[in-house]
Formats: sequence, structure tokens, C-alpha cells
Amino acid sequence: MIDKALIPKKTEAFDVFTVMDRLDDAQIEAEIKGEVVSTWVYEFEQEGRAIRGLSKKGTDAAVDLLAKRGEVIREKLIAIERTPEAYEFVVVAQKFLLSKDGTQEVLLQESLGFKRQPLTMKKKDGTIIDDPFFFEKGGIKAARNAKRRLLGPAIEELIIAEAVKGRKVKQIKTPASEAEAPAMYEEETSLLTTCPIHNEPWAIRTSKTGKYPPFRSHNLPIGSDKPYCNFSEVMKGDAEASAKALGGTWAAVEERIKTKYNSTWSKLTDEQKVEVVMGLRDLVAAKQQPKAEAEVAEPEAPDEPEDWRDHDTEY
Ligand SMILES: [Zn+2]
Repeated sequence: MIDKALIPKKTEAFDVFTVMDRLDDAQIEAEIKGEVVSTWVYEFEQEGRAIRGLSKKGTDAAVDLLAKRGEVIREKLIAIERTPEAYEFVVVAQKFLLSKDGTQEVLLQESLGFKRQPLTMKKKDGTIIDDPFFFEKGGIKAARNAKRRLLGPAIEELIIAEAVKGRKVKQIKTPASEAEAPAMYEEETSLLTTCPIHNEPWAIRTSKTGKYPPFRSHNLPIGSDKPYCNFSEVMKGDAEASAKALGGTWAAVEERIKTKYNSTWSKLTDEQKVEVVMGLRDLVAAKQQPKAEAEVAEPEAPDEPEDWRDHDTEY
């Protein structure tokens, strides 16, 4: 039986705005650390259309461009609300028209920007850790939101055109654009369509070298030292946890796979991986029953695990 918690209710839509916000988190963190940030525009493909949005850096560039034209945007933090899980920031941005000699200014427009920033962040492996930069991220993004509302479409278009010319556009692959790969796993999608750790829909990726069959995977936020969370790894983690609960090791799992399938973990189909995981879970469940005699795997020297980097797809 498949654990109900592992079965997604439905595949969640890829949320472009959440992803862009995460990318900006990484950009803000990089700037704090003094790294060079060059992406002005994020570009996604959705239903065959290119969707573009200014990054935090692109918003700054737009504000600079406006200033050169005599329209200055100034920002001011007006409120911080602290809750146990997040800080909420409110920033006001005001746009002034400066006289040519710079001695006079007229307030043209003002706008509020809001941001609720959690104190924690999700790591590549799904664990939640304290975010050391939550305060900066929240404040800067509230200011970004306020300023962005004062830009207007003409300036945004100019910045996007500049970004395209100057190669400052970051193209982001979406699960939808990935899913056009051959539907090799179509009959399996009822098993597990979403990563149970990150709750992200899997996309089918094809190894360029042809060394591996197409595999299911989804992107992790930029800044992760590993760009993908893949199905095989998640299932392997599950199998390892069961092996550990049984007092065994990964090598013992590989031994079982060799006996049953005359194969290795990395060469199993996704269906077979699910089968292995469920089989191990059954053993763990049996062990937890006081009367049942559990099958305990023999510890052995661990095999070299398949390296995720072998899947050479670009992020
Ligand atoms: Zn995942």
C-alpha cells in the first residue's frame, strides 16, 4: 500500500511569482555577501508565451533610469510587525519630479509595498533552517514592491529591452516546458506526481549523454548547491530510512535489489523503486508489531551511490 501522505491530491500549478520571489531572495543574499548580481529580468515560458518580470536588481536599474530623467524615487520603512513565524514589513515609496536645477521637487505619486518574510527557509534537502538574512530580504522586498508600483509599464519595457540586449535575462525552466519530453512514465503518474518533500510537481528530464533513462525531477531554488531534487533520490532516501529502522544499511538494500531484480537501484524503473520502498516499509511495519519477526538486513560495506551530477541538465 502506498502511504496516503505520499499521494498528492492534485498537481499544483507552477507559481511563477513564488519562484521569482525565491530567486530574488537568492539575489538579495548574494548582494549582501558582495557577489556580483547581473540578472535584471526573469523569463518563464507559460502556455507557449514568454512571461518576463523584473528582478530586484532590475527594479533598481529602473529606479536609476527614472532618476536620470529627473524622477527620483525615495523609500521609507514605515512599519515592522513581528509574529513568531515571520516579520511583516511595510515600506512607502514616493516619486518626486525634480526641477532641472535640482532646487525644487514635486511629489508625483506614492505607493505602499508589503512583504511577509518567514524566519525560516527550506534547504535543498527539504529541511527547514533559520534564515540568517530574513530581515534584509523582507525589508528589501517590501521596498522593491513599493518602488515597482511606481515604475510604470514604459520604464519596465525599456529595462526589459536593455536586459535582453545586455544578456541580463535569466531563463527559468518550468515543469510545463520540461513536460514536453516523451511521456515515458505516463502510466506511472498515478503513483507519485509530486515530490513529497517539496510538494513540487516532477518534470521529466532527459539525460543528454543518454547514460540514464529519462528521470523525474524538479528544480530547487537558486542558491542550492544541488539544482535538482529527483525522484530517485527521494525514493532512495525513503528506502535508506527504512533500512536504518531495520538495523541495516543501503548495501543491504542493494543486495535485495540484486536478488529480486538482478539489477541495481539506479537502473530500476520508477515503478520498481516504488515497489522496493513499499516492500521495505512493510518490513518496518512488521518489525513494529510486537509478535512479528522482522527481517533484519545484514550490514555490509556501502556501495558508491549514483551521483546526481551525472544528470547533466542545465538549471
Ligand atoms: Zn523535492
